[in-house]
Amino acid sequence: MSPYCASRFQTIRRHTHEVRVGSVGVGGTHPVRIQSMTTSDTQDIAATVQQSIALAEVGCEIVRITAPNVAAARCLRDIRAQLAAAGFGHVPIVADIHFLPSAAMEAVEHVEKIRVNPGNYADKKKFAVREYSDSDYDAELARLHEAFSPLVIRCKELGRSMRIGTNHGSLSDRIMNRYGDTPLGMVESALEFLRIAASHSYDQIILSMKASNPKVMIQAYRLLVTRMNEEQMTYPLHLGVTEAGDGEDGRIKSAIGIGSLLLDGLGDTIRVSLTEDSVYEIPVARAIADKAMSLWSLGAGLQTPPPDQIDPYHFNRRPTQTLALAPKVKIGPEHAPGVVTRVTLSALANFKSQIPLPKSPDTPHEGLLVPVNTCADLSFAAASVSEWSAPGRFLVLDLAPSLTVAELESTISNLLPAVLLREFTAADSPALAAFATLARRHGHTLAIAATADDIAALAPTLVALGDAALLFTLTARLSTLNSSAHPLGRTRALAAALHALGSRAPLWIRNTSATAIKPDGSFLSRLLDASFLTGGLLCDGLGDLISIETEADPVRATTLAYNVLQGAGARSSKTEFVACPSCGRTLFDLQTTTQRIRAQTGHLKGVKLAIMGCIVNGPGEMADADFGYVGGAPGKINLYVGKTCVQYNLPQAEADARLIALIKEHGKWVDPAPAAV
Ligand code: SF4
Repeated sequence: MSPYCASRFQTIRRHTHEVRVGSVGVGGTHPVRIQSMTTSDTQDIAATVQQSIALAEVGCEIVRITAPNVAAARCLRDIRAQLAAAGFGHVPIVADIHFLPSAAMEAVEHVEKIRVNPGNYADKKKFAVREYSDSDYDAELARLHEAFSPLVIRCKELGRSMRIGTNHGSLSDRIMNRYGDTPLGMVESALEFLRIAASHSYDQIILSMKASNPKVMIQAYRLLVTRMNEEQMTYPLHLGVTEAGDGEDGRIKSAIGIGSLLLDGLGDTIRVSLTEDSVYEIPVARAIADKAMSLWSLGAGLQTPPPDQIDPYHFNRRPTQTLALAPKVKIGPEHAPGVVTRVTLSALANFKSQIPLPKSPDTPHEGLLVPVNTCADLSFAAASVSEWSAPGRFLVLDLAPSLTVAELESTISNLLPAVLLREFTAADSPALAAFATLARRHGHTLAIAATADDIAALAPTLVALGDAALLFTLTARLSTLNSSAHPLGRTRALAAALHALGSRAPLWIRNTSATAIKPDGSFLSRLLDASFLTGGLLCDGLGDLISIETEADPVRATTLAYNVLQGAGARSSKTEFVACPSCGRTLFDLQTTTQRIRAQTGHLKGVKLAIMGCIVNGPGEMADADFGYVGGAPGKINLYVGKTCVQYNLPQAEADARLIALIKEHGKWVDPAPAAV
């Protein structure tokens, strides 16, 4: 068993105890619960009731409402009553508390669940740097016990549940100074609160470890579960990527973080945080949950492939050899993953008219993948490719298994260096040797599509061949294979099989319809599949080349590929936005502001820009952003460089220009470049 999940190769749900959130059970045998948050001012009771109903009507099962002060917490009583009167009494409310135990003590009287942030429930957040001796630290814990216990006791008396919601970037100074702003610090922060709750025999707690960076978030949840397993704790998990932003990027980041954990069997309730109206979060969350739950098993038929070799708590890329696919395209551990786009043969011949230019020079067409079913197809590709050929591009030929080496020999010798992609089964050793020899003789690379079992059977041939000019990918014939493993698990198993072989050949992550997870044909489904599979593997350090294959819309597929790389932190092609979803504390219109700032600054490859609705949580939760645009007061903006506020209370009308000036002052500005092939 892995330290944090029953299997990294198939989805076996983690055992948790049930937590009751009013009438909604979380964990245990319950399905993954969907939740979201209102964005209205909580004291605007009518608006908050209306938003809560709108959320419930589209399938939100638990509604969170901010309680920034005691007055707002008091309003929860009327909100609760009006929801019940409108026929939504079954929808539990969660009060979101930061900083004010007094607001929590008021809210607990009215709602089914209280969310506390252990970074600020009983601690001031000053980013102070100081040494804590063991006795200082123990004194702080005693103070925490005193501050937190009344809420635990009242929750127990009233039958309320609680979420201990830790966020990367908003840890207490005590934790930051001892553990740093790390997954370990996040876990320790939650454990301090859990121990206090346990001292009162209270276990109706759900835990979360959110971060805007999916890698950090994944590592924190894994570490938390490992620590809970060590202490026989079975608390359910609430999953979310915080400040994920909006649009395709927000959906991708959320799906990478939430999806890869759900595929490992972790997670009992989820929120997809988008900088959009909250109702748009629900279909995304529903689709993520449904995909993951369709893979749940009770452990029957558990496969036992060799353990994969990654450290699940620290990111390291799989060590591979470097492979040049074109004069200016190299793949391997020192290079960002390359991108392959699937097109038709005719599109290759007329690529200038049929494959529109990418929107940005940072998202080029690098590899074009074309199907080759006959020798005539190959001749056609060879004749067509010269016009497309360039030092930053390569061609991939998807060879039908019926084509033989003898048939290909003469035509392939006329081809510029390319990648030959072919599937090999366990019985294909002679063919594998022949194709590898053919590829090497003519300066091509052979991409071997196989499963972990195939690789084990082909091992003698592969060892004899060595890694030169080889790369590997998962076979696309998964639908004919009898196993409950999902593509992410199968690719992990493939990487483990290569490790067992001693191979350092690069790995290509292909999203084909055959490797997708229960595709329903919609773009959202495709996006989620790509985020689960490609994003999840990239966060494991696997993947040197990626493709999302949809011949019908190659440009959109390529854009999606670059966006998944960006979401997984594997390759930057534009500005990284960290934008909070907004809530009742928000001091400006986050959606329009985010869109406006993105229109002006979205081309700054490698720059991380945070847009946060309030100074209460914004500066902490924008984590490692380079620049921050944060609501300081109504109509006023504070600008940050890192965590340091450098300009206070700017009129909002001036703030965009001042932000750009700040980026320029720090040497991070470039003028937008015209789109090019
Ligand atoms: S940062 Fe945004 S979501 Fe978080 S509390 Fe402030 S306004 Fe609300």
